[in-house]
Order: sequence, then C-alpha cells, then structure tokens
Amino acid sequence: MASGNPKQEAAGLVFSIQHFCLQDGPGIRSLVFFKGCPLRCVWCQNPESWKPIPELGFKKHLCTNCRTCISVCPEGAIVSPGQIRSEKCRQCFACTDACPSGALIRFGKPLSVKEIREELMPEYPFYQNSGGGVTFSGGEPTLYPEFAAHLAGSLKRDGIHLAIETCGLFHADPDTLSASGTITKKDTAQTAHPETAGRLLTLADLVLFDIKLFHPEAHRQFCGTDNRMILDNLAMLARRYHQKGGPLIWPRMPVIPGITDTPENLEGWGSLLAELRLNRLTLVPFHHLGEAKREWLQLEPGPCIHTLTGESMEKTLRVLTKIGISCFAPGEEDWPEYISS
Ligand code: SF4
Ligand code: SF4
Repeated sequence: MASGNPKQEAAGLVFSIQHFCLQDGPGIRSLVFFKGCPLRCVWCQNPESWKPIPELGFKKHLCTNCRTCISVCPEGAIVSPGQIRSEKCRQCFACTDACPSGALIRFGKPLSVKEIREELMPEYPFYQNSGGGVTFSGGEPTLYPEFAAHLAGSLKRDGIHLAIETCGLFHADPDTLSASGTITKKDTAQTAHPETAGRLLTLADLVLFDIKLFHPEAHRQFCGTDNRMILDNLAMLARRYHQKGGPLIWPRMPVIPGITDTPENLEGWGSLLAELRLNRLTLVPFHHLGEAKREWLQLEPGPCIHTLTGESMEKTLRVLTKIGISCFAPGEEDWPEYISS
C-alpha cells in the first residue's frame, strides 16, 4: 500500500468518490477524485485536492470542545482543538476516527484498484442504463499515471465508459501521444511527477480538458505556472482526436469574474479552440465553496472574487458564440451528437 506519494503507485491517493453525478461526462457517473495537483488556481474550489499527501482538516463550527482528540493522539500533536503541531503529527488519523462531531476530517486515503472497484461496481447498472460511466477527476489524475491506467484498464475491460478530467499539465508519452512531434521535454520540470500520462490517456473515451488563462504570464499569475505545456497538450490531443487516434477532447472553462471572463482571455481561447476544431465548450460557473475549505485546512484566504452575475455569463457567451464556439452548462452538453459526428 502506498503512502500517498504519487511515485508509489500500488495505490492512488483519493480524497473522494462520489456517485450519481450528472455534470462530468455523459449519463450517470461516479467521480473518483485524486489528491494532488500541479496548479494553484487562486479561485480553486477544491483546495483539499492540492497536496499529494493525506491531510487533516478542522471545521471549527462543528467542534464541541470535548477534547477527545487530544487524549487519543498518540504523538501529543494536538495542543488544543484545531491546533495541531504538524511536525509531530504522524497522520495516523486516530483523532478523526474519534472525533464525535465530525469537526476533524481526513482528506485523502490511499486506495487500491480493488478497493476503488468495490466502491464503483454497485453503480454499474446505472452506468449501463444511462450511457454513463466513471470520471477520474481531482486534483490531477495524471499525477498517478500508472495507478490510474491500471484502474482505467480494469474498468474498460468491464465495458465502462471512462472520462478523465485534467488540468492539461502532464507529460505526454512520446511513443503514444506525440506523433505530430509537437511535444518536447523542455518543460517537464513544471509538472509534479516525472512519469508520463500517455497510457492513461489512450484508455480514456473522453478527456475533459480544463482551460483557464490563455496568456502564459496571466496563467502563471493566477494558476502558479505558465501554460505552454498545457497548450501543447491540448493541441496534440485535438490532433489525435481528429485523426481518430485518441479520445474525444471536450474543453471546460471556469468562468471566474474579472479573471477568465475578460474579452482578451475569451477571444484568445475561442480563436485557439476554433483553430483546433474543438468548437464546443462547457462553461463552469464560479462559486465561493473553496473559501470555507481553505479555512478548514488553515490556508491563507484567497483573493476576493466577485460573485458571478447573469450579465457576466451573457457577455462570456456572446464573445465565444461570435467566434463560433458552442457553449454548454455542465450536464447539458450534447454528448451523443458530438461523439457520433
Ligand atoms: S493524525 Fe494522529 S498523530 Fe496526527 S494529530 Fe491526529 S491523532 Fe495525532
Ligand atoms: S474531538 Fe472533535 S469535537 Fe472534540 S475537541 Fe476534538 S475536534 Fe472538537
């Protein structure tokens, strides 16, 4: 069993498995959320997905001050409820198991393929009857290329439709995915993991490819790294799809007021998508859920981002539609038509 280090892939570090999801691919789906992400988007709604290690979270409003956690901690790491000395914590999670109110929570558990399958397979009839399947999300599933490919292969053998949601910052496998010759290794230091994602991507039926800031420096400013590798990977996957040598590529963009919804950004992405003949895009509306989670993890608050208005959404739609991009809300995509076209 792995310890949460993505290099040890007998297990994948997973922070959630959710069923009956309708917004991350066709039909009724289960979502497997891998923990660990090479980006740090300032608006992130799942900051618990960032670190590729198990973590403790503390929901202050649920704590009853019973002090059970202090007494069960074998390392004496808990000074007072919610105040945990990280240098002493050995991540045994005795405290989360003992906390009677759910104030202490665990994010991330190494799970084997067998364990994940046991969780997924009861949902099999829903996948089959709805044209759904399983979506790997995160975090970034390609941080666990071998493990995720192993899991993907096992699901595909059962005829389960597989989607992978990715931030696009992964190493393309030169043997399987760079037939066009556009991928180089010069940017590989940007990713958190030296393995390739090629095998995993060849197993997917659908890649939900997240796009954010078009300009490399803006991407660095808001997401923590520039986007050259992401742009290369998107172009390469689009080519593979059109040559019928790879999965369907469906871009998704979070609409973040004042950040991703500027005319320059939308025009940049719109033009590129049109050029790549990826003329369908899901727009994912921003919400503020990530702020509470930052508090649970004792992270610095993110920047103040305005609430997304209907007017801003309409403006976004106008710009993209004018360029010839058809936009969809999550869960309302025209999957079957596009897949068969
Ligand atoms: S995870 Fe274990 S070592 Fe860490 S604070 Fe909780 S009980 Fe203590
Ligand atoms: S065990 Fe839970 S409820 Fe009790 S003091 Fe600790 S965090 Fe608070």
